[in-house]
Amino acid sequence: MQYEGDVYRPPSEARSLIIQVTIGCSHNTCTFCHMYSDKKFRVRKREEILRDLEECSRDYGEYVSRVFFADGDALVVRTSLLLELLAYVKNHFPYVERVTAYGTASDVLRKSEEELRVLRAAGLEMIYLGAESGDDDILLQIRKGQTAQELIDAGRKLKRCGIKTSVTLISGLGGPEGMEKHALNSARLINEMNPEYASILSLSLRPDSPMAQEVARGERKLLTADQTVEETEMFLQAIDSPGTIFRSNHASNYVALAGVFNEDIPDMLRQLEEAKARKRYRPDWMRDL
Ligand code: SF4
Repeated sequence: MQYEGDVYRPPSEARSLIIQVTIGCSHNTCTFCHMYSDKKFRVRKREEILRDLEECSRDYGEYVSRVFFADGDALVVRTSLLLELLAYVKNHFPYVERVTAYGTASDVLRKSEEELRVLRAAGLEMIYLGAESGDDDILLQIRKGQTAQELIDAGRKLKRCGIKTSVTLISGLGGPEGMEKHALNSARLINEMNPEYASILSLSLRPDSPMAQEVARGERKLLTADQTVEETEMFLQAIDSPGTIFRSNHASNYVALAGVFNEDIPDMLRQLEEAKARKRYRPDWMRDL
């Protein structure tokens, strides 16, 4: 099996078998994102994907417990093909516990509830949904292509259909002026979705991304480490999403946090205060991803 271009996966899929179902991202316009800028989006041919699955099942099928469908939003693929791939995984990887994929809110909203339920029954356990922000102005600025309400609707729809959701936010997207609305509206988004998992990454830009060029032209300011922590504090103080497992321990984060909403929020706020008081932040050279 040969991967096409760089392949990205969520941190929690580090031990998963990654199968490229699509190449690139069907949206591919978010201004902070460099991941698939060099790829022209396409759904791979059914025969190619099945050939990869066949090769992997033959060589190490019994060692695979998790499968991740890449690239940027494999959920965009027509349901009949996804079902065929899920059936192949079920029949040829005896120890697979779960299959997951990235998906956009548009991908979720385009499918009927019946389709999502059938996908769940076939083994699709979780969708990683990159919300980035719960603020409509910020979503527009970063060219996310979705409103906060659409993101909320997508999250609720997945929940109704039994598919777990892991929602990602990015601190710093509103700059210093937009910190408060980014924090509070992102908390509202999580509260209304009540996803199984939520995480915050810190904005980390590659020089060739459109947003990095906005910064270079002086049109956008980045947050300092202190401001990033303050934004996360505002977010946590506004959270009411019982049971959501929260992670902010990605390599991009200044302070690593992990806990469960709402019970661990006071402890996480204490950790942030302490890090801020002692300036105990992950240095930028370690955050240079
Ligand atoms: S952030 Fe997600 S949806 Fe946006 S361009 Fe990157 S991969 Fe595509």
